[in-house]
Amino acid sequence: MINKLAIIGIGLIGGSLARALRRAGHVQEIVGFGRNLNNLKLAVEMGVVDRAEVNLVAAIEDADMIVVAVPVGAMTEIFSQLAGRITRETIVTDVGSVKTSVVTMAREALGATEFSRFVPGHPIAGTEQSGVAASREDLFQNHQIILSPEPDTDPGAVETVRAMWEASGASVRMIDAQQHDIVLAASSHLPHVLAYALVDMLVRRDDHREIFDLAAGGFRDFTRIASSDPTMWRDICVANREPLLKLLQNFSDDLGEVMAAIEAGNGEWLMNTFERARHARETYVKPAPSDSPDSVE
Ligand code: NAP
Repeated sequence: MINKLAIIGIGLIGGSLARALRRAGHVQEIVGFGRNLNNLKLAVEMGVVDRAEVNLVAAIEDADMIVVAVPVGAMTEIFSQLAGRITRETIVTDVGSVKTSVVTMAREALGATEFSRFVPGHPIAGTEQSGVAASREDLFQNHQIILSPEPDTDPGAVETVRAMWEASGASVRMIDAQQHDIVLAASSHLPHVLAYALVDMLVRRDDHREIFDLAAGGFRDFTRIASSDPTMWRDICVANREPLLKLLQNFSDDLGEVMAAIEAGNGEWLMNTFERARHARETYVKPAPSDSPDSVE
């Protein structure tokens, strides 16, 4: 049970976590920190938070759990403001989509004792929408949460964060930060870059109106994630650039092979490739949990 939860960044993920914990009766008081007064006002009106603060120090006062839920590029600033203010009774966690760089930011900003109370985390759930208005109390239901504790992370803090996420309806997996970033670059970051690049390439053509006008369900499915928040995805690409660039290079090489096969009219090669891909998708890509929004993560 959390007595006072401070959520730094009361958007889609922070708001959904607040709502899920309230529904589960796992928290007594929730304070939300942000900069946008309209979003904060809405968070209070919707009952997502009990109180909204534009002052970070006031927001975290007496909190036993602080969840940092801002875009990855804003985390350094938040960790520097938290430094020196994390008491022995407080646990800090984050929800950032990249883990190695967030761990580095936290390690550099916080002292060793404070850092040991920081549990890096990432919910594998979300939508292409943002802001508290898009939050859902069931966003994490039947979804996975990755925790990436470091060797010097306090095991008690890890267990408290695990219990928080389990109360939200999620299941928790432990994955080392570097491995997390390699796997997520493939499953999430690469598809987002491809979706953004495809839509941007098409919109710059003179006949783009006709193209989008005639686009059907397949195009909508493939490009849905290009409606995601550009700030969040800019930050993820910059923070996870090494694994992402390796995958983009692989992808570009493989695309070259596809182009060569098409140019040569090599139907057999294309058939084998498409069959292999279809079989892999049917084998490995599970349907979304029922009643949950299509995930972007
Ligand atoms: P969001 O809906 O845009 O919410 C982010 C919140 O952070 C906003 O309420 C914003 O509030 C605050 N914020 C933004 N920049 C800030 C800054 N410079 N300083 C202080 N506060 C700032 O985004 P989200 O989708 O919840 O994403 C939040 C985090 O979750 C990101 O790190 C993202 O990588 C991670 N994540 C997202 C998803 C997803 O599918 N969306 C899934 C898993 C993890 P104000 O504008 O009021 O300051």
